Amino acid sequence: MKLYDAHCHLSGAACHTVVLNGTCPADWLKVVGFAEKDPAHIFPAIGLHPWRVPDAPSDWQTSFLQQIDAAKAVGEIGLDQRIEGYDIERQQAAFRWQLEQAAQRNLPVSIHCLKASDSLLHILKTQPCPKRGIHLHAYSGSAEQVSHFAQWNTYFSFHAGQLGGRAKKAPAALQAVPIDRLLIESDAPDTIPACEDHASFLLRGYQRAAELRGLTVEALAEQVAANFKRYFLYD
Ligand SMILES: [Zn+2]
Repeated sequence: MKLYDAHCHLSGAACHTVVLNGTCPADWLKVVGFAEKDPAHIFPAIGLHPWRVPDAPSDWQTSFLQQIDAAKAVGEIGLDQRIEGYDIERQQAAFRWQLEQAAQRNLPVSIHCLKASDSLLHILKTQPCPKRGIHLHAYSGSAEQVSHFAQWNTYFSFHAGQLGGRAKKAPAALQAVPIDRLLIESDAPDTIPACEDHASFLLRGYQRAAELRGLTVEALAEQVAANFKRYFLYD
């Protein structure tokens, strides 16, 4: 069974096919360099993460433009109103600019959104998005909001940590996602419990998603593989 990880970070790329996300200029160089070792299985994404906006070097956009041709996607970018001391206006400016770069090149884009759905919806309504669609990683919105986001040809991914017993919204949201828009991720390495590795954490995400959709894990994996290829791999 071939598994695809729609969103992870450096040192999480231990196995399977992954989209490896960078979070700041120093990280982008490492991500692009790492992906060169196995271009058939590691797809590099570069983006300024909302957590990295406050300490981004003043020339981060120049670095972005230098690296983007080597990348297969834009990410991780987004909005986060859950972190302490967030500056939503600076986050929005960085997000808008990067979304525009993705739209101009019709690149996949991996979006982080925490407690900022209204702000994200406003931006999506007021500027162009990549024609191929957008990807909301570790989707944390409600099941009802899935249909609001769907108009941008949106893909939604979830990881095993969101789908466990205590989580309330994510399992219902996963059930609301159109089956041809569902992706599975690890967001490794920070999400993975100390007792688990990347491969088993990713597989657990597939197993839990299959249970929630009433499918065998093989059938779910086949569908997720088709979704992953359609979104990330077609030019
Ligand atoms: Zn991430």
